[in-house]
Amino acid sequence: MSIPVIRRPTRAEIDLGSLKNNFLSIKKFVGGDTRYMAVVKADAYGHGALRCAQAFEAAGVDWFGVAIPAEGVELRKTGIRKRILCLGSFWKGQENMLLNQGLTPVIYTLDQAETFDAAAKERNSIAEVHLKIDTGMGRIGVRHDEIDPFLDKFARFTNLHIEGVMTHFAAADDPGSNDFTREQIVRFERALGAVEARGHRPVYRDLANSAGAIAFPDARGNLVRLGGALYGLTRDVMPPDCELPDLKPVMSVKTKIAHLKTVPEGETLGYGRTFATERESAIATLPIGYQDGYPRVLSNKARVIIRGQYAPVVGRVSMDWTLVDITGIEGVRVGDDVVLIGSEGGCSVRAEDLGALSDTISYEITCGINRRVTRIYAEGGEE
Ligand SMILES: *Cc1c(COP(=O)(O)O)cnc(C)c1O
Repeated sequence: MSIPVIRRPTRAEIDLGSLKNNFLSIKKFVGGDTRYMAVVKADAYGHGALRCAQAFEAAGVDWFGVAIPAEGVELRKTGIRKRILCLGSFWKGQENMLLNQGLTPVIYTLDQAETFDAAAKERNSIAEVHLKIDTGMGRIGVRHDEIDPFLDKFARFTNLHIEGVMTHFAAADDPGSNDFTREQIVRFERALGAVEARGHRPVYRDLANSAGAIAFPDARGNLVRLGGALYGLTRDVMPPDCELPDLKPVMSVKTKIAHLKTVPEGETLGYGRTFATERESAIATLPIGYQDGYPRVLSNKARVIIRGQYAPVVGRVSMDWTLVDITGIEGVRVGDDVVLIGSEGGCSVRAEDLGALSDTISYEITCGINRRVTRIYAEGGEE
């Protein structure tokens, strides 16, 4: 007998309508016959890869991008049929899983090429791979100035087809680095030229992440790899003052007040006694903490929204609980809704805001919302 799970009210609401809106408005903004990859790595930046991928597939994306093959396998299990690129390549031993599941690897070493070529040869097939060029990110990729010796040796892998050639920008969101981004584009074009000069016929040429696709029209190649923009995360990962498509935040994080009390002036609250009331205060206890992904560094810094008004976080955020000061907000009751990320009644707290207060970016905030926090999808369903 299965035990029904009655969940606590702490939840992340994922608005699949906004997700589709974001894809369609980027598509309108980019225009032309560009292809679109929805990057759904890291559980779609915390938004839930399976439901998001289904929504993207229905909206017409061409490709999915995952970080590791296991993420691609999960998408296949739920019936995702579109092409899936493993952006972080694969580890030896996973090559047959990739071929069986129809997952396409990025490759950037001769070892990877050799392993994948052998696996393809064994089944008498030609396998597609996407060749990553390192043009200045310095993370993974064949160095742009070492592409010729790489291609010399690559020639022996007769069961591989270079279907795509790609690179990744280091700072497309930073106007101060525009010269560097332009240099990355030049290096990419040169490497692509070297690939084509040897008779390879890559179908896809892609460079751009969200910032690149929006801010560098000449860097769109014929495929753009979109992550953050699709989830409506923009303000900290796009160039400031850049013209943007209409992008709406997709994730809201909410809970309900668990406990209320009145505390006299001069009492301290929470671990470390970092906050003392300066007046008689109404304090609400919220069932969310750093284990849920509400960072401890937000202690005494962030604010939440209750009854359409801001309420400051007071004292330390602990593992499972956070305190807020609701003094002066009328009519607050146990069970009232609390918005930690999202908007209500003209007040708004964005993942970007919590990122800035936490000395990080919005991506780390949404990725960090723990699986213990129930995802609720605006088009129905839970996971
Ligand atoms: C994560 C990732 C992207 C998407 O980046 P965003 O900034 O979220 O748009 C694109 N390409 C590669 C290779 C990535 O790893």
